[in-house]
Amino acid sequence: MDLLVIAVILGVVLLAGGIGLVVSRRGKQAEIEAPARPVPVEPAAPAAPEALPEQPSAEPSATAETSGTGTKEKEPEAEAAPAAPEKPEPTAGRLVRLRARLARSQNAFGKGLLGLLSRDRLDDDAWEEIEETLITADVGLDATTDIVGRLRERTRVLGTKTSADLRALLAEELTAALDPGMDRSLNVNGDKPAVVLVVGVNGAGKTTTCGKIGRVLIADGRSVLFGAADTFRAAAADQLQTWAGRVGAEIVRGPEGGDPASVAFDAVKRGTETGVDTVLVDTAGRLQNKVGLMDELSKVKRVVEKHGPVAETLLVLDATTGQNGLAQAQVFTDAVNVTGVVLTKLDGTAKGGIVIAVQRKLGIPVKLVGLGEGPDDLAPFEPAAFVDALLGD
Ligand code: GDP
Repeated sequence: MDLLVIAVILGVVLLAGGIGLVVSRRGKQAEIEAPARPVPVEPAAPAAPEALPEQPSAEPSATAETSGTGTKEKEPEAEAAPAAPEKPEPTAGRLVRLRARLARSQNAFGKGLLGLLSRDRLDDDAWEEIEETLITADVGLDATTDIVGRLRERTRVLGTKTSADLRALLAEELTAALDPGMDRSLNVNGDKPAVVLVVGVNGAGKTTTCGKIGRVLIADGRSVLFGAADTFRAAAADQLQTWAGRVGAEIVRGPEGGDPASVAFDAVKRGTETGVDTVLVDTAGRLQNKVGLMDELSKVKRVVEKHGPVAETLLVLDATTGQNGLAQAQVFTDAVNVTGVVLTKLDGTAKGGIVIAVQRKLGIPVKLVGLGEGPDDLAPFEPAAFVDALLGD
C-alpha cells in the first residue's frame, strides 16, 4: 500500500515537474516548453538494414552533394526546409515512459532487488544475492561492491527494516552511483554553429539519434543542419535525409563511399556560411579495423576544427550490448574527446544497470537515453527518475 502511494506521488511529481532536455543557454538552464496538448508519437523513421557490407574506401573526394537532387556539385547547397515540419512531443517527462517499457520487458532487475530487500532477515546470503542481481543487471563489479557495501552499512547503522525504507535507501545509493551532480546539458549555445559529432559503432543508433536530437533542437527554436558523414553505410545518408525532411533541417551529404571528413568539412562550412545554430554530424562506425576507425574519426574532428572547435562529441552506445559495448566505447574515447554518452535501446533491455557501469568506466556523463524507435523516444537522462523507473513499484 505504501509503495503504491509513493509510486503514484512520484509519477505525479515527475509528470508535473517534467525533466526537459536541458540545454545550457548563456549560463542558464532552459527547458523546452511543453505545448498545451501533447502531439501523438509518429512512426519511426525507416530502420537501417541490420548488417550491410562495408563499402570499399573510395578515393577521398572534396565534393559534397546537394541533398535530394541526386547530382554532385562542387559547392554544397542546402535543401529548403519543408514549410511545416512535424511537431515533437515535449521532452519534459519523457523518461517516465521508461517505467512502462521496462515493465513490458519484465523488469527482473527492480523486482528481484525489491524482493530480496523485503525478506525478513537480510543475512549474508541475502546480501550476496543482491550483489549478484546488480552484477547480472550490468552494473559492473566495482560499482556493485560500492553500492552494496554502503547499503549494508547504512541499513545496519539506521536499523532500517521496512521494505519502503530499504527501497528508499537503495534508490539513494543507485542515484549516488550515477553521480547526479554531473552536467548533462548539451553544449550547443556557444559560438555558432555549435558542431556536434555523433560517433559510435554501426547499428548503435547514431543516425536515429541525430534525427531525434535535431527534432528537439528545432522545437526549441534552433536551426539545424545535418552532415551525413557516414558515407560507408549505404542507407545512412538516405535515412538522415528522411529525418531532415520531417524535422525541417538542412542536410549536406556526399557521394557514397566518399571521404567522411570532406562531408563533415562541407557541412560545417555550409552551416557557418548560412549562420545555422547547430550542425549535427553523423559519422561512420565500422569496427573491423580499429586503427582505421580511430584514424578516420580523428581526421573528421581535425578537419571540422579548421572551422572552429567541436562543441560536443556524443558517443552513441547500444544498451543491449552490455559489457561488450563498454569495450567498444573505449575505442572511441581513445580516438576522440567524447563529452557525452547517449545510451540507446534502453527499452530493449532489462539490464538498465549498464548506465552506472558506462559512467563509472568512462567518467563521461550519460546525457540522453533512447527509449524506442519513435521520433520522440529520446529522453534527457536524469538519475533519480531513471532509478525510480528501474526499481518500479
Ligand atoms: P547507426 O548505424 O548507428 O546509425 O544506427 P541507426 O540509427 O540506423 O539505428 C539502428 C537501429 O536501431 C534502427 O532500427 C533504429 O530504429 C534502432 N534504434 C535506435 N535507437 C533505438 C532505441 O532507443 N530503441 C530501440 N528499440 N531501437 C532503436
